[in-house]
Amino acid sequence: MLKIGLVGYSGRVGQLITQHLGEDFILSSVFVREGANLDNPPKNALVSNIWEDFFASCEVVIDFSSPSATQALLQSALQFPKPLVIGTTGLTQAQMQLLNQASKLMPIVYATNTSTGIALLNKLAFLIAEALPESDIEISEIHHRHKKDAPSGTAMTLAQECAKARGLDLQSVRVSGRDGNIGARGQNEIGVMSFRGGDIVGRHSVGFYCEGEYIEITHNATSRATFAKGALRASQWVKSQKAGLYDMSDVLGI
Ligand code: NAD
Repeated sequence: MLKIGLVGYSGRVGQLITQHLGEDFILSSVFVREGANLDNPPKNALVSNIWEDFFASCEVVIDFSSPSATQALLQSALQFPKPLVIGTTGLTQAQMQLLNQASKLMPIVYATNTSTGIALLNKLAFLIAEALPESDIEISEIHHRHKKDAPSGTAMTLAQECAKARGLDLQSVRVSGRDGNIGARGQNEIGVMSFRGGDIVGRHSVGFYCEGEYIEITHNATSRATFAKGALRASQWVKSQKAGLYDMSDVLGI
């Protein structure tokens, strides 16, 4: 059984990971912030706010928390390297640099979406963006009302795949809002728009709009369990990898 250390245990995804451990995984340590009181503490796992102890009690770390917690995790992992699966979204550029730095010392799967379907959507988005260079790319995402960051990390990864396929710098071509007399659409623009509401788990759509035809590809997550199962699959895979930065397409071998 693979010993999992979890950051974000009491969160929506953290709880699902705990419920889907099955026979191949065991929750062996949980990192909590100082003074945190867990309503339903895990039965046989270490609960700690000391990174060294947390790392010492697990074989692989899964993190679904917040950018500040992920930053603290990465800083500590530089001292106590461990295979990591990071699902937290909304990381800043500096935090991404830290992630890159840490991946020189340990294997890290960084996946803004750990579902299998989204890994395929990323691949398809890349292929279509490359095959239809004249198409206008517009990405839309909708999530539940509690989601804190926008656009979603998944939408940003999809946009990144499209930009990569066309040799564009996403930061200079991304448009995440249109209002007023803004003029015609720029040829290289990649639109990334966000909607929020209700209890929607996650819907991502990428449209490729040409003259006379268009393609839209959509992924709907109907249960958050898909993220938990994907993260556990990634943890099984990452434990035996060399240091480096990986994503779900590496885990799935696609
Ligand atoms: P949530 O708010 O329900 O849970 C967050 C958890 O992190 C809580 O347990 C909270 O106590 C913990 N946490 C936050 N800051 C902390 C800190 N400084 N130290 C220790 N623990 C801390 O959120 P959620 O819906 O479970 O999502 C968590 C993250 O995962 C978000 O960034 C979300 O966007 C992302 N997410 C990723 C995927 C994916 O497939 N990669 C899927 C869903 C959500």
